[in-house]
Amino acid sequence: MLDIHNLNVPVRIQQLLSEQGITTIEQLTKFCRRELSKLPKLGAKSLDQIEEALIKRGLSLAQDPFAPYTCARHGQPRGDVSLESLYLCDGCARKFQNIPFRGTAPEYVGPPVKGYCLHCNRLFNNVRLRQWYLCGICSRVVKSIGRSMVADDYLQAWWQREVQPDFPHLRLELTDPPELRSYDFNETQGETR
Ligand SMILES: [Zn+2]
Ligand SMILES: [Zn+2]
Repeated sequence: MLDIHNLNVPVRIQQLLSEQGITTIEQLTKFCRRELSKLPKLGAKSLDQIEEALIKRGLSLAQDPFAPYTCARHGQPRGDVSLESLYLCDGCARKFQNIPFRGTAPEYVGPPVKGYCLHCNRLFNNVRLRQWYLCGICSRVVKSIGRSMVADDYLQAWWQREVQPDFPHLRLELTDPPELRSYDFNETQGETR
């Protein structure tokens, strides 16, 4: 157990920690930043110095159990993030993970069941429940794309059935198919999604 005086921070900080009963580096790493910030006279700059000194030793402060979860699509902690359950086929799940969720694997993958994929709306023998942490906005976006796809499919079918026979020279083309995009993409495109 290394004495707190071995930590490469100003003596003032070492003393403040000792006064609070934190006398070893090992003890210090049991605290998260939020907890330390409650100690008297320990400001943000001191906390930065503590964290930097720990990193140089290959250590870090404890994870904050009350910190907000990170949205898989935003890649940032947000206050309204919760675990979202999505039934997806393997293809759509792979697509979700790779592009909009920036490589984040689902927190949970369930056993295969027969049913419809939330995204492509096709029937599979092996859709699986998959769970990711998503904020409110991303959760709504993710769940709404499948509905747009159903609407587009219906319109195409209706066109083929009702319009095409009488007007064979007209074509209905889907020029902007609905797809789940990454958050960054939307930002640069100035979209609201
Ligand atoms: Zn699918
Ligand atoms: Zn989000």
